[in-house]
Amino acid sequence: MSTSFSRRAFITTALGTTLSIKLNAKQIDKNLIIYHPDSDVYKRLNVPFNSDLSFTPNSIAACTDETSVVSAISYARENKLNVSIKSGGHSFTGASLNNGGLVIDVSGIRQKFYRPKDQSFTAGPGLKLAEVYSYLFKQNRLLPSGSCGGVGLSGLTLGGGYGLFARQHGLTCDHLQQVKMVTAKGKIIDSKDNPDLLWACRGGGNGSLGVITSLKYSTVKAPETFTTQKFRAYNLTPKKAVQLMKDWFSITAGLANPLFSAFVMNGRQVTILLTSTYSHRGPAFQSAKNAFLKAGTATRGVYSKPTHIGIKTYSGRPNPLPFRNMSAGYYNTFQDLQPVAQQITETTINNPGIIFQINTLGGAINNPNVSGAYPHRSYPYLGELQSYWNSPTQKKKLIPAVEKIRLLLKHIPHHYVNYPDPDLENPATAYFAQSLTKLQKIKQQLDPDNFFPKPPLKTDS
Ligand SMILES: Cc1cc2nc3c(=O)[nH]c(=O)nc-3n(C[C@H](O)[C@H](O)[C@H](O)COP(=O)(O)OP(=O)(O)OC[C@H]3O[C@@H](n4cnc5c(N)ncnc54)[C@H](O)[C@@H]3O)c2cc1C
Repeated sequence: MSTSFSRRAFITTALGTTLSIKLNAKQIDKNLIIYHPDSDVYKRLNVPFNSDLSFTPNSIAACTDETSVVSAISYARENKLNVSIKSGGHSFTGASLNNGGLVIDVSGIRQKFYRPKDQSFTAGPGLKLAEVYSYLFKQNRLLPSGSCGGVGLSGLTLGGGYGLFARQHGLTCDHLQQVKMVTAKGKIIDSKDNPDLLWACRGGGNGSLGVITSLKYSTVKAPETFTTQKFRAYNLTPKKAVQLMKDWFSITAGLANPLFSAFVMNGRQVTILLTSTYSHRGPAFQSAKNAFLKAGTATRGVYSKPTHIGIKTYSGRPNPLPFRNMSAGYYNTFQDLQPVAQQITETTINNPGIIFQINTLGGAINNPNVSGAYPHRSYPYLGELQSYWNSPTQKKKLIPAVEKIRLLLKHIPHHYVNYPDPDLENPATAYFAQSLTKLQKIKQQLDPDNFFPKPPLKTDS
């Protein structure tokens, strides 16, 4: 049974203030309301984290459990609407929203349950990373994940999920043990009965196979301490920046697994980040620190805190901002960047607002025995090309500079699906490499009509 209502409602808040909210919505069944443009809920949910983008979906299904997802799918079919799936809304390209279709919003499916018996964690797809960290820290447990608190757990996991703990404990998707999904036909399936589904969701399940409604993970003991230190070099010329980049690659090549490092170039400044789940007094941390200082950086000191406090330094901005970011590719060594390094550093220096970042991978990520669609385990480095602006004039200058660096990196074959680049020539191969054939077969099996049309996975039909 469905009821339409378009009216203004008044609610009284805990502080006794009366608020008016605009409802332009349709109650589809007892669990699902579909919101239309003009309603306040639609406006709140139709917000991509990248505020440079805007979308006008026909309607948004605010799902609260898996049966409401089933209802949303039949609503889309009855009304011949294209669909997209939205969780934390952090897709760089706004892949979770659409124009003219139905957005299946799962941010209201938020169950969380830690089971001491097998140390597993079962989560709804609507949870955000900050909530996951703080919930599990109370149990002295950790799910290794990304650092920015507002990123959605399901969007991150389904594409891989790396962060400050990945070199020690692996990717987020490596800890995924079981998922439930609503298929394009509205059927609820469980990976217990379909091991290929679990395989696909470990790095290849973003938005194109079905709607994930529950994710069960293994967890690890939460580290007691989190240490972080920043090393900076100022007023760099392109040549000096390249030398520092080269040194950083060689210093981090032998980094111990509990350590993570990033090389972040912003204008004439490079910040080298070093973190550890151990004290800064340990030999691995000291040796990396001394090497970074010897390479010409300066530091203001080290910050060592209980982990639940320490990681908040990296929790990022909660509110949307305009940007154009993308994968700058996976690298094995500095040699992969050498032919273009000078032009990249020059362009970064000449275009304030561009950030060229390289993160260390490797360690526990590089475990060939982990099964799953994430194909880039053996690469020890991942680049990110970022650009942020404060004004339309700055944007106008930055976009061609981003494009210039993007083209310089054309020889880099593999990219991270969670840092999508819509202009890649062969995105399916770049993101999924050797996993592509099996992923395409699973797509064909689960969604033969391409009901979830998110590229680059497509069926033959
Ligand atoms: C500020 C910022 C910081 C980031 N930091 C990191 C980081 O530290 N590590 C890292 O690995 N990545 C990081 N990312 C990238 C991040 O992993 C991706 O943007 C991720 O896809 C975001 O997921 P989401 O749920 O927030 O986004 P959404 O935009 O809601 O979804 C992203 C994609 O996943 C699909 N999807 C979401 N939920 C489901 C579901 N339940 N079922 C099926 N498909 C679904 C969507 O359809 C869409 O294609 C960061 C991104 C930003 C903007």
